[in-house]
Amino acid sequence: MSRDEPVEVKHYIQHRYPREINFCALCGGAMTSRIVLPDRRRQRVCSRCGYVAFLSPKLVAGCLVVENGRVLLLLRRAVEPQLGRWTFPGGYVDLGESPAQAAARETLEEVGMDVRVENLLGLYWSEPRPPTVVAVYLAAPTDKPPRTSEEASEVAYFAPELIPWKEIAFRTTRAALRDWTAARQAARTNF
Ligand SMILES: [Zn+2]
Repeated sequence: MSRDEPVEVKHYIQHRYPREINFCALCGGAMTSRIVLPDRRRQRVCSRCGYVAFLSPKLVAGCLVVENGRVLLLLRRAVEPQLGRWTFPGGYVDLGESPAQAAARETLEEVGMDVRVENLLGLYWSEPRPPTVVAVYLAAPTDKPPRTSEEASEVAYFAPELIPWKEIAFRTTRAALRDWTAARQAARTNF
């Protein structure tokens, strides 16, 4: 295969992280389980060069695009995992960009919208394969309407009472949407 040929992400391979890190990313030496100072926690350590692989969750960032404080944008996933289910735009934070930048970039890529990223709604954690922390930002739409893409087969705004709870993609999506609807409810009650 040519190195310029794009590759598809094979999720069954990605799911092997972090359990199956067998070789050092720096020198190719065998990784072993060792107690590491100063906190004496067990980590994977290279038996050849001593590189410690501090394993941590993958960071994902996404936007809850809210129009006029009333409806929020969801997309129907056109890719695995959770193909066909609804979530908000988001994806992995790349090295060199802030979580807020990543959230805005993913929103532009997935639904074609330039958004104004506002407050952090919350951090949502999910254990399974690979372990993930999702930073969810509230964002306001600018002039361009949302569109579908290779990653989104459908996009739509939902009022809180019309959120398709049975077709939500991820546990973290559900938790963020719950927090948003609860906050809206609280704001309404306080007025
Ligand atoms: Zn090494």
